[in-house]
This record gives sequence, structure tokens and C-alpha cells, in this order.
Amino acid sequence: MKKKEEYKMTAKELCIGDIVDFNPLNKFYTGNWRSRKKPILDKNKCINCLICWISCPDSSIKVVSDDAKISIVDNIDYNFCKGCGICAMECKNGAIKMEEEKK
Ligand code: SF4
Ligand code: SF4
Repeated sequence: MKKKEEYKMTAKELCIGDIVDFNPLNKFYTGNWRSRKKPILDKNKCINCLICWISCPDSSIKVVSDDAKISIVDNIDYNFCKGCGICAMECKNGAIKMEEEKK
């Protein structure tokens, strides 16, 4: 298994027509070309229904187990989130809001 430092290449470094080898998600931070908005999680409003988790096309909603082995939403992995907004749209509790990204 490669060390984390070896996964520093970003999608912007790819050339047009470049060939990406097996399992590119482990090597390229696709969140690097996220849309202009990013999802912000408010854990106080989250009821851990996990709808956002199953809806995210990039598996960027990170879930952990608490002491009672119940899955809870922990954070959003901005290394891979592309800012599509699906999680915010699907969250009926208003626990995820899309905010303009400051770059
Ligand atoms: S959809 Fe909303 S309430 Fe449900 S787990 Fe995700 S953030 Fe929490
Ligand atoms: S904005 Fe899209 S890619 Fe990012 S966490 Fe939400 S559903 Fe996933």
C-alpha cells in the first residue's frame, strides 16, 4: 500500500488525453475541481438518517460508528467532494447547506 504522501497529484496535472491507471480515485483529489459551492454540515441538525451518505456520488460523506455501534455522519471529505449539491438537496433536515467557496 502506498503512503499518503504519494497521493499528491491532482486532476489539474493531467494532460488532455492522459491515461489514468487503475483506481484513480486513490491518486487524484477530484475535489480540486469542485464547483464554486461546497457543502457545510451542521451536526446539530443532523439526525443521522444517512440519506446524504447513500446519495453522494463521490462517497464524500464520511460516517463513523459511535460507542453503541450506530453509524453517524462525521464529516465531508473535501478532497473528493465535487460540490454537486445532491447531499444538501436530499437532506430534509437542513443539516447540509451549500456555501460559496472562498479560493
Ligand atoms: S441527510 Fe441530513 S440528517 Fe440525514 S444524515 Fe445526512 S446530514 Fe444528517
Ligand atoms: S456536494 Fe455532491 S460530492 Fe459533495 S458531499 Fe455532497 S453529494 Fe457528495
